[in-house]
Amino acid sequence: MKDFKNVWIFAQAQRGKLSPTAYELLTAGRKLADDLGEKLCAVLLGHDVEKFAKDLFEHGADTVYVCDNPALENYIDDVYAKVLADMVAEYKPNKFLLPATNLGRSLSAKAAVFIGTGLTADATEVVINKEDGQLHATRPTFGGNLMATITCAHTRPEMCSLRPMSYEKAARTEGRMGDVIKFAFDPAKHTSLAKFLQFIKSEGDGLDLSEAEVIVAGGRGVGKAEGFNLLKKLADRLGGAVAASRAPVDNGWIDYRYQIGLTGRTVKPKLYIACGISGQIQHMAGMSGSDVIVAVNKDPEAPIMKVANYAVEGDLYDVIPAMLEVLK
Ligand SMILES: Cc1cc2nc3c(=O)[nH]c(=O)nc-3n(C[C@H](O)[C@H](O)[C@H](O)COP(=O)(O)OP(=O)(O)OC[C@H]3O[C@@H](n4cnc5c(N)ncnc54)[C@H](O)[C@@H]3O)c2cc1C
Repeated sequence: MKDFKNVWIFAQAQRGKLSPTAYELLTAGRKLADDLGEKLCAVLLGHDVEKFAKDLFEHGADTVYVCDNPALENYIDDVYAKVLADMVAEYKPNKFLLPATNLGRSLSAKAAVFIGTGLTADATEVVINKEDGQLHATRPTFGGNLMATITCAHTRPEMCSLRPMSYEKAARTEGRMGDVIKFAFDPAKHTSLAKFLQFIKSEGDGLDLSEAEVIVAGGRGVGKAEGFNLLKKLADRLGGAVAASRAPVDNGWIDYRYQIGLTGRTVKPKLYIACGISGQIQHMAGMSGSDVIVAVNKDPEAPIMKVANYAVEGDLYDVIPAMLEVLK
């Protein structure tokens, strides 16, 4: 196991864009690499992706491994996983962090099987254990009631997918340079049982929840699907996005992709307005990192009223129109 050196992060790049999760993984990875006295390396797979290497160096990567080939233009699980497994076999990284995005969750699981190592999925914190240099990856478990720290004692690399928004984005140092190492795509070996047919963008309001600076979220207290129109008005007025707790999703009032929490998305906006949400631990797991929390609730004893910076006691159907009136 001592042949395995350096901390790798997977820099997800699709459709001409580098995912912001790459910068978050560079923050997490930098600390691990410094604690181990090893290098921080980023991995880029795709077509026309080498151009992102400069950005990765400026955000902290020492080395960038690139496999750039038209066959990698569109993400296919087994092709990407086979390339990663071959890269790992050749360069032997010690730790390997991937983003727990849809793509990253799928890729990390498959790659870990091909590599033959352990994976901690969906972690929220990673640290190096000082005594033995092992990766300790922590994630919520038992419905968010416990935090479990998971290790991978007998195989390398120790792999982990890290929840988006768990770490700040790495700071940029203009002009910082590093080494690019190219890895050849092998069409005979990097094959797939699947075939890419077409990419269909999901319909939505276009605003990415994970990047929204203001979020207006509704819970069971909204009472009906149409109630979200009122929340949307407030969100639009503040230049933000609408989101939900699990209750409205379960009731079919709003699509799952808007769900915040343990089994939904993690967000860190500047302002989170929770309307008719009680603030159960599974919901809080997805939004407690918000800068300012405003809760609107009929029940002054609701848990969210205790954690909110501003707790507004009242019916959301009175309070939101009043807020809109003031914002006019
Ligand atoms: C394994 C597991 C995973 C889970 N994952 C998630 C997750 O990812 N996200 C998530 O959100 N939940 C999740 N849950 C569910 C979670 O435990 C709660 O059931 C859920 O968050 C409750 O949603 P809520 O706050 O909207 O509803 P409730 O708890 O029913 O609260 C509704 C609130 O609205 C208030 N209210 C009612 N009417 C009004 C009104 N007119 N104006 C103002 N206030 C009003 C009430 O006082 C109450 O506080 C998970 C649960 C489990 C077991």
